[in-house]
Amino acid sequence: MDQDAPPAADGFSSLGLDPALVGALTSLGYEEPTAIQREAIPPLLAGRDVLGQAATGTGKTAAFALPLLHRIGRAPGEPRAIRALILVPTRELAMQVAEAVHRYGRALDVRVLPIYGGQSLQQQLRALQRGVDVVVATPGRALDHLGRGTLNLGSVAAVVLDEADEMLDMGFAEELEAILAALPDERQTALFSATMPRRILEIAKRHLRDAVRVTIANEKVAAGEAPRVREIAYIVQRRHKPAALARVLDMEAPTSVIVFCRTRIEVDELTETLGGRGYGAEALHGGLSQEQRDRVLRRFREGASDILVATDVAARGLDIEHVSHVVNFDVPSSPDAYVHRIGRTGRAGREGVAITLAEAREHRLLRNIEQHTKRKISIESVPTVHDLRARRLELTRAALEEALASGGLEPYRRVVESLAEEHDVLDLAAAAVKLADAARDGADDEEEIPAIAAPPPPRAMPARPARFERPAAAAASTRQPNGDVVRIYIGVGRSAGVRPADLVGAIANEARISSRDIGAIDVADRFSLVEVPAAGATAIITALRGATIRGKKPTVRLDRGK
Ligand code: AMP
Repeated sequence: MDQDAPPAADGFSSLGLDPALVGALTSLGYEEPTAIQREAIPPLLAGRDVLGQAATGTGKTAAFALPLLHRIGRAPGEPRAIRALILVPTRELAMQVAEAVHRYGRALDVRVLPIYGGQSLQQQLRALQRGVDVVVATPGRALDHLGRGTLNLGSVAAVVLDEADEMLDMGFAEELEAILAALPDERQTALFSATMPRRILEIAKRHLRDAVRVTIANEKVAAGEAPRVREIAYIVQRRHKPAALARVLDMEAPTSVIVFCRTRIEVDELTETLGGRGYGAEALHGGLSQEQRDRVLRRFREGASDILVATDVAARGLDIEHVSHVVNFDVPSSPDAYVHRIGRTGRAGREGVAITLAEAREHRLLRNIEQHTKRKISIESVPTVHDLRARRLELTRAALEEALASGGLEPYRRVVESLAEEHDVLDLAAAAVKLADAARDGADDEEEIPAIAAPPPPRAMPARPARFERPAAAAASTRQPNGDVVRIYIGVGRSAGVRPADLVGAIANEARISSRDIGAIDVADRFSLVEVPAAGATAIITALRGATIRGKKPTVRLDRGK
C-alpha cells in the first residue's frame, strides 16, 4: 500500500473511538465520519446527554451506536446485563438498528437483541435470559415485557430514543414516559429526532441533563455560490438503483460523470455492476495506492473512461475541472456534502446536471438539502423503457439526417431502387430506420423499475381518532394499482383500551405492511375500523385473525358498511 493513500477510517480514531470499532468501520468501507457523527460522537463518548436533530440517511445510527459500544465494556467474567436500551418506532427499524449495532460491535463480543411486537414473547424471553448487552425495542413491546417483569432495566447505563418524533406520532408518548421512569436515574440519555417540535423539546427538558444539542443542516450557503446545475432526484428502491442508474446514463448520455457512493465497498460493487452492464466505469476510493489513483484519474481526464465511481474522501481535492454530470448513488449524509459534490459540475459557466437516487425513506434529506441551498430539487420518475426507446429513436433520426447531409449514398440508392419495384418507398425507409435503430448502441433493457411516489410532506399531529396519511397517489405503485381502499372491522375498541397505535402496531407487525400504507383509523367503543389497501386486505385479515390486541383475540373481517 502506498504511503500517500489516506489511512482508513482515520477520522474515526481521531474522535477517540476504540480501535476495535475503528477496525469494524474500515472493514465496512467507511472512510470518514459524517457530520452528525463528528458532532455527536465526542460528547457521547464523554458521557454527556445529547439532543440530536438528524434524519435517516445522515449516519445517525452509527453516531449513537459507536459511543454506546465504546462505553459498555464488560470486565472479563462479568455476567451480561442490559447496559444500553435503544427505543425505536417500528419493527423494521428495530431490526435495522440491531443489525447495525451487531456489525459495529462484533469485535467487542457485544450481544444485541431486537424486541418488537408480533414476535413470540417466549422466544424473546429465552433470548433475554441467555443474557444480552444491548436491547433495541419498540416502546409497546418493551413496556409489555416490563409489565411482566421479563425485562430488567436496572443495569441500563445509556438509553437512546431514536426517531423520537415518529414514536410520538405513533402514539407512544405514554409508553416512553413509563419506560424512562423505569430506568436508573444515573444514566446517559440521547434523543434523536428528524424534527424538533415542542413536544420533543419538552421530553428532552424532562429527561435529558445538560444536553449537548447537535444539529446538522443549518448552515447558510453564501449567495452567488449557486452553480448552474439542473438538480434532479429519482425515488427508487435500493435494489433497483443500479438499473435506474444505467437507464439514467443511457438517457442523459453524459460526456463525463462522477458517481458518488458512501463506502469503498459500494464503490467497488457498483463499478463491477456497471462493468457487467457494459459501461466503462472506474473506481476511486481511499483504499487505492497513489499510483492506482493517478492511473484512474489520467484515464478519466483523457476520456478513456467516462464514469468515475468515487467516495467523498477520494474525490476531495481532485484536479478535475468539470464533469457534465454528478450522480449521488445515495443521498449525501449532509447538505454540505451535497453542495461539495455537485460543485464538480456546472463550472465555468457551463451547464451541469446533478442527479440523486434516493430511497423513499430518504426523502426528508432531500428537503434538508433544498432548505440549505434554497434551490429546488426536481423529483422525477425514472425514465421508462418507453422513454428510453423514444430517446434512442431520436438519436437514430439525428444520425440519419447526418448521413443524408454527408452524402456518399450512391451504392445504397441502387439497393433502394431495386426494392422499390416491389415495395412502397415509405415502408422501405421505415424498415431501414428500424434496422438502424436496433443496431444502435445502448442496452435494450426491459427491466421493470417500479415507480415509487415520494412520501407526503411531514404530517401534522394525528387528530383524534388518529388519521394516518395515505401515501401520495402512487401512479405506478405495485401495491396499490388504483389506490382502492377498503375498511377492516376489528372487534375491539376503546372499552378494551385500544388506541390507534395498537392497531397500527398489530397490522404492521402481523401483516408485515408498512404503517404508511394504513389509512384512516376509527376507534369506537366496542370495535375499530381501519382503512387498508384493497389489494392487501385479505392477507391482513388472515394475519390478524389469531393476533392478540390489548389482551383480546378479536373478530376480524371486511367491514360490510363500505
Ligand atoms: P443511517 O442514517 O444511520 O440510517 O445511515 C445511513 C447509511 O449510511 C447506512 O447505510 C450506513 O451504513 C451508512 N453510513 C453511516 N455512517 C457512514 C460513514 N461514516 N461512511 C459511510 N457510510 C456510512
